[in-house]
Amino acid sequence: MANINENYLELQGGYLFAEIARRVAKFKQEHPGADIVRLGIGDVTRALAPAVIEAMHRAVKEMADADTFRGYGPEQGYDFLINAIIENDYNSRGITLDAGEVFISDGAKCDVGNTQEIFSTGCVIAVADPVYPVYVDANVMAGRGGRYNAASGKYDRIVYLPCTKGNAFTPELPAKRVDIIYLCYPNNPTGMTISKEGLKKWVEYAKRTGAVIIYDSAYEAYITEEGVPHSIYEVEGAREVAIESRSYSKTAGFTGVRCAYTVVPKELTGTDGKGNKVQLNTLWNRRQTTKFNGCSYITQRGAAAIYTPEGKKQTREIIGYYMENARIIREGLSAKGFEVYGGVNAPYIWLKTPGDLPSWEFFDMLLNRLNIVGTPGAGFGTCGEGYFRLTAFGSREDTLRAMERIKKGI
Ligand code: PLP
Repeated sequence: MANINENYLELQGGYLFAEIARRVAKFKQEHPGADIVRLGIGDVTRALAPAVIEAMHRAVKEMADADTFRGYGPEQGYDFLINAIIENDYNSRGITLDAGEVFISDGAKCDVGNTQEIFSTGCVIAVADPVYPVYVDANVMAGRGGRYNAASGKYDRIVYLPCTKGNAFTPELPAKRVDIIYLCYPNNPTGMTISKEGLKKWVEYAKRTGAVIIYDSAYEAYITEEGVPHSIYEVEGAREVAIESRSYSKTAGFTGVRCAYTVVPKELTGTDGKGNKVQLNTLWNRRQTTKFNGCSYITQRGAAAIYTPEGKKQTREIIGYYMENARIIREGLSAKGFEVYGGVNAPYIWLKTPGDLPSWEFFDMLLNRLNIVGTPGAGFGTCGEGYFRLTAFGSREDTLRAMERIKKGI
């Protein structure tokens, strides 16, 4: 009999979106005619940019001819995409990267979930509260969670860093020593950003303590304000302490296409059991070449097209469309007297529930009274209780309809 990995039994997973789906299905059964507007999901709704589609069509044609056909590609990704990333996403901001430091993948979810593998299971991880659940669950699977405490809603080996309006949704440095810190900015679910000064504090902490930061920058393309850091490597010394992941999912509507990348600088090290420094880039390269066979050629050609002049213009237009939705939601809610966060440099709007109503009660109220679906903040962590997330990824029509209902109905 094969024994299972019992860490999986500690997972509380799937609860949030499964519970939302259950409540919506029940409501629909009881109210078959209800016209439900969904502003809960984190998936995009606009079509891919024409430049991406054209590049992918060209790549398909290449695959149809034995002379230009491509089989297995480099596990780390094709040079044409890696070079476009370095030039456009980094050099343009004064950051220098070596081609061997960029790893193309099929999603930031996989990357932020998998990078923990190159660290000891003895490492203590720190996450923000509220948090994108993948960081927690991936570490729980590996055995870094310890026991789940149902009363506190927390794992006893994980350090939770509260993000509240008191600290502008950017966490304080941990009181106890941690080894791996997950930071996500612009943030899902709060839609808030971190300043360069704020990031500097974390880079200095990591340098001082030997910790490693895993910086999830999946929503970087949504930054609209000047002065907001686009990459952790804008902070001096960050190359020695941080891994950074980005995704084309929200940048260019690739949620169904699948392409992302992770940067592991060569200066970044961890220590082995004897205290010797080991380059993390080497370990991640080994991990990827062993367990991953590369993102498809067609997909990478599509991703590279985002960096062409037409691709840039078209993706900016799509992002602009979502950010206009964000503005409509943010301003509509503010006009109604809601306390609203995010939605300026991110497609997420994080609102305080009226009268401190528990998140799930607000969810039910919104669904029952206005037929609108959002995401209860409590589903992202205990500090999310009393908050609610709406997304700007819906169609303009749905966004306007939702706001019209809120204007009239709450
Ligand atoms: N990181 C964050 C913070 C996210 O919100 C998401 C998607 O919702 C991802 C990563 C996943 O990105 P991908 O679609 O590239 O796997």
